[in-house]
Amino acid sequence: MRTISHWIDGKHWDGASTRTGEVSDPATGRVSGQVLLASAEDVDHAVQRARAAAPGWRATSPVRRARVMFAFRELIERHTDDLAALITAEHGKVLSDARGEVARGQDVVEFACGIPELLKGSYSEAASAQIDVHTIRQPLGVVAGITPFNFPAMVPLWMFPVAIACGNAFVLKPSERDPSTSLLLAELLSQAGLPEGVLQVVQGDREAVDALLVHPDVAAISFVGSTPVARHVYATAAQQGKRVQALGGAKNHMIVLPDADLEAAADAAVSAGYGSAGERCMAVSVVVAVDPVGDTLVERIAERSRKLRVGDGRDSVSEMGPLITREHRDRVRGYVDRGVEEGATLVLDGRESTIHGDAEGFFLGPCLFDRVRPEMSIYRDEIFGPVLSVVRAKSYAEALALVNDNPYGNGTALFTRDGGAAQQFEREVEAGMVGINVAIPVPVAFHSFGGWGQSLFGDTHAYGPEGVRFYTRAKVVTSRWADATSRGPDLRFPGSG
Ligand code: NAD
Repeated sequence: MRTISHWIDGKHWDGASTRTGEVSDPATGRVSGQVLLASAEDVDHAVQRARAAAPGWRATSPVRRARVMFAFRELIERHTDDLAALITAEHGKVLSDARGEVARGQDVVEFACGIPELLKGSYSEAASAQIDVHTIRQPLGVVAGITPFNFPAMVPLWMFPVAIACGNAFVLKPSERDPSTSLLLAELLSQAGLPEGVLQVVQGDREAVDALLVHPDVAAISFVGSTPVARHVYATAAQQGKRVQALGGAKNHMIVLPDADLEAAADAAVSAGYGSAGERCMAVSVVVAVDPVGDTLVERIAERSRKLRVGDGRDSVSEMGPLITREHRDRVRGYVDRGVEEGATLVLDGRESTIHGDAEGFFLGPCLFDRVRPEMSIYRDEIFGPVLSVVRAKSYAEALALVNDNPYGNGTALFTRDGGAAQQFEREVEAGMVGINVAIPVPVAFHSFGGWGQSLFGDTHAYGPEGVRFYTRAKVVTSRWADATSRGPDLRFPGSG
């Protein structure tokens, strides 16, 4: 049985803890490895070694740090297929989707290559009499990232390239469900020239997370995962005086107005609803059909969804793979049962789908519900599976109210041909990421990613310019050189004139 270890000081490391967790191949249901689960003592070792590496890395010029990122970018490009194969083997998503995830992560590395420009401070000459003022941004020291199972390459890459380029040392705690991808990323970054200890990977579960949250030498925590854990991470780490960004779950709505191109809207709903088996935080889980398009839209979504091929992600003809674990698949099936009991119309029953794969795999076909109402559990809860709900609304105002009343506020989309309606939506909607005729509006790497409401606890979004702000702190220097001779004490508060 393969053992999946930690990565400390540029090499594999076993740590002291003897606890392990099972990693499965979701397409076959078979256990493929045992991942080590770090103890608080193991976490402390990783943090102390990162702390030792941090001053040297901070003193390395931004241009040299950027060169490591350039080399890392090339290595990711060269190893995209290896990374994608690892993702598919442990997560289950189809290979083309896994490659897409690597590419979006690589975008962030490219952004981090611009760090000399991004870290430039600002200078005010003669801000006051004989006084100049300048602002610089400095790294925080050791920072940590805790990531979810659903993007084992992309979400870690949202964090550590930016943090490290800013001059920090980084401790990554990836998901224990698909931990291997992060090890290959760490190995590639090491090959790219990153000094030992600047990126540590600690495998583990809640015990490792909690150790990071209270560790006195960890200055900041980036978290991406479900809302209950995000809330716990935010509250615990903030209480320790740490800087925290904790991105949580989602329930993303896509509104289709009567004037929309219904063919394009149906394509988008199917792609965004069932891509990666619905295990994306930016997946569309609710389509709001504004009268009178409901019947036609549901028919077109169903027609496309029925044809989706569900099977092993390694099979090039598969469009949708399995879910992450048997328990999670059963939980999602439970929601389908409940949706029927609660009176929604099950237009397409994924429990009956033909699966082109191992009978023991964690598969569930695409499920489509129509006439879903806001009080139903399939509407309220984040299901995180291939279950798409259609809610009928009488007007744009009613559709907008549904989105704005939802406690999550990650992504949302509007499908329309009306520029005025789109502009109004952009202004009125309460969500952090908005798509206009784009169902999955994940911001490009030079903007930043983050939701509102219960989809994000903290102030700054991930990667892009907000990532640079998160991983650095400002220092403002006020200096006088000319005319700095003695004039005697003056106890008045210094004016700004
Ligand atoms: P999760 O919350 O179960 O786990 C996330 C991380 O937290 C993992 O590293 C895990 O080991 C750790 N963890 C789990 N339970 C913990 C606990 N009780 N205490 C401390 N740490 C704990 O999430 P998941 O199932 O891996 O990922 C799916 C969730 O992540 C979904 O809710 C999805 O919407 C969300 N997500 C959000 C975004 C976003 O950008 N907002 C992106 C991707 C995924």
